[in-house]
Amino acid sequence: MSYQSPEVGSRFRAIEAATGRAPRKFDLPKDDLGRALAVSDYFGQYTFGEKEIKGAIPRGDYERFLELTQKGQTLEKDLADKIAKAVRNWALEMGITHFCHWFQPMTGLTAEKHDAFISFNDDGAAIEKFSGSQLIQSEPDASSFPSGGTRSTFEARGYTAWDPTSPMFMMTTVNGRTLCIPSVFVSYTGHSLDEKTPLLRSVEALSSQAVNLLHAIGDTNVKRVTATLGAEQEYFLIDRAYAALRPDLVHTGRTLLGARPPKGQELEDHYFGSIPSRVQAFMQEVEFELYRLGVPAKTRHNEVAPAQFELAPIFEDANVSIDHNHLTMEILKKVAERHNFACLLHEKPFAGINGSGKHNNWSIATDTGVNLLDPGATPHQNLRFLTVLASILKGVYKHNAILRASIASGGNDHRLGANEAPPAIMSVFLGDQLTMICNKIKSGESIENPERAMITLGVSKIPAVARDNTDRNRTSPFAFTGNKFEFRAVGSSASCSLPMATLNAAVAEAMQEMSAQLTERTKNGGDRDKAILELVRETIIATEAIRFEGNGYSAEWVTEAERRGLAHLRNTPEALAAFHYPSTKKLFASQNVLSEAELHSRHHVNVERYLKKTEIEIETMRMLVDSYVVPAVIAYLSDTAETAARIAKVPGAEKGPVENGVKKVSDILKDLTEKRTAMENAYQGAGSASGEEARAKVLVEKVLPAMYTLRDVCDKAEMAVGNAYWPLPKYREMLFSY
Ligand code: ADP
Ligand code: MG
Repeated sequence: MSYQSPEVGSRFRAIEAATGRAPRKFDLPKDDLGRALAVSDYFGQYTFGEKEIKGAIPRGDYERFLELTQKGQTLEKDLADKIAKAVRNWALEMGITHFCHWFQPMTGLTAEKHDAFISFNDDGAAIEKFSGSQLIQSEPDASSFPSGGTRSTFEARGYTAWDPTSPMFMMTTVNGRTLCIPSVFVSYTGHSLDEKTPLLRSVEALSSQAVNLLHAIGDTNVKRVTATLGAEQEYFLIDRAYAALRPDLVHTGRTLLGARPPKGQELEDHYFGSIPSRVQAFMQEVEFELYRLGVPAKTRHNEVAPAQFELAPIFEDANVSIDHNHLTMEILKKVAERHNFACLLHEKPFAGINGSGKHNNWSIATDTGVNLLDPGATPHQNLRFLTVLASILKGVYKHNAILRASIASGGNDHRLGANEAPPAIMSVFLGDQLTMICNKIKSGESIENPERAMITLGVSKIPAVARDNTDRNRTSPFAFTGNKFEFRAVGSSASCSLPMATLNAAVAEAMQEMSAQLTERTKNGGDRDKAILELVRETIIATEAIRFEGNGYSAEWVTEAERRGLAHLRNTPEALAAFHYPSTKKLFASQNVLSEAELHSRHHVNVERYLKKTEIEIETMRMLVDSYVVPAVIAYLSDTAETAARIAKVPGAEKGPVENGVKKVSDILKDLTEKRTAMENAYQGAGSASGEEARAKVLVEKVLPAMYTLRDVCDKAEMAVGNAYWPLPKYREMLFSY
């Protein structure tokens, strides 16, 4: 080949690098005799949470601390100072020099601003200082974070405040250590500017409504409940050398073009397959880092697509679990670099194979140690289970549209409804056993005698059967899995906060209504259990439309769901409109999760983020086509045309095949130019849309389809142009070499 651009050279060097790498070794901590320590020896070593506070301050102070934090009240100055001193002592022992309030602005990521402990005492000598007020509150310059119009420019200040329910932790980089203090981020007018605040408020709402409902059915010893969450994290790993050569991966997190490899996931040989040793070395280092940070990583395995993997933790309180999921995403990315991998958290890094999600395993736990979604063994426990189940059905049914909207993002649009992930329609899967029970309750069998009814209904037999996890429907966005629900439609790169806050709020509202109904019906005495079962029955009947046991990927389901009146919001701009629904506003306001202004600002931030990300994709596509694809096609065309001319001069040589080849590539070049212009025209058209929502609609309906048509031509070009001419790492290289 006469043509070799520097880009092509680097592609071949990347292949060489990727295939020549050895697994990275790192040293696990050892005891004096050189034996590896048990994980339990260093689990949480880098954290300072409730347990450490308890050990460091007098008992009375600790009890006061617990009481105030449970009520969400501020600590008195002297108490805060005592805790700060304990934290400082620990930090100095650990060699920490800086501290930061670690928070989650509406960028979907985490943010931090570091301050040194260094200060001067009255004599002018340098000392390490950390006060209670520094622990509790900090004032980052908030003006550059998205606020969705909540703050006007003259009032650009917000503050971060310590969330004492999530442990502080130490972040380590090669040259130093930083204390991170999990925090909320609010404006001076009290508006939440972050993801954590609404989540915390939603847990509060769920707690108070669930406690009322439990009291109404006779469980009067419960004082608090909390939402529990275990977020299974899917991700891709490819060699870093490849990622660096793909501007689309660098700028958008996904490949905007790339021909399908001859082999994808069709052989189903990757899922749960043996983990490549280089990847396993990576996973072990990730887990080690997570354990020291107190993140309970539990399960690791290969996922369905080539180069796709999963990490699942043990569940925790939703708030802590979400912080830990943010840490997990960060550690995955950091450790990947050390292993010369790029960790891709995007929902759809590669077309044609599965994308990644984050299954949110969710339940409700009481302070008396009961999982409310555990069917239980006694008739009363079953009745409680059914009441909670009914309230979940009610909440999810009523708010199915905003639940769908809570997981909407440009990345997730590629998964939802694309036959690999739950559809863009919310429904609830209960499994055969529970469905059978719901049907019996619906028909009113044996309702006269609830105590006996439970038994004849087979309700008391639920545990043995329902915990059998063979009953799996992977096509449902919200499935009951034995003793918890799995909200499967959350995107792999998303924060779980909004989806969880929305779910908690929806269920809290349903519980509020149900306890009011129950109180009303039993105020004059009568059989309480009978009244409960009757209410459960009515709720099951009223919410029947949300239950779906069939194949969520099928076209019939879309028609059926629309007939049932369930929201089918096909893409992010459509889904975000659910933020405007009166029922949504009422939900978030009545449960004190988001005021109307806060909701409005979140909608605004989401629309804006969608616009920006999509525009970055379009601009990256332009650049790829103009400066990679077209030059490669031209170079190949020019070389083959020359070759054809030379062959034509050879007496008796067959020139047909070469000339056909030249014609084929020249047709592709023409097609490329046309489709490139079509995308450009569509994009220019978006410029005249008035307002951001209208612009988002044009992008999703006109520009993205034009971009995908252009992509198809690029992929044809990749297949037609000689391998030695193609400047970008190919799917078959990125996905299959370790
Ligand atoms: P499965 O394989 O059926 O999905 P696992 O036991 O592997 O079940 O759990 C999957 C995830 O669900 C894990 O992250 C786990 O910690 C979480 N999980 C289990 N029980 C609960 C619960 N009560 N609340 C929230 N998450 C839970
Ligand atoms: Mg699971």
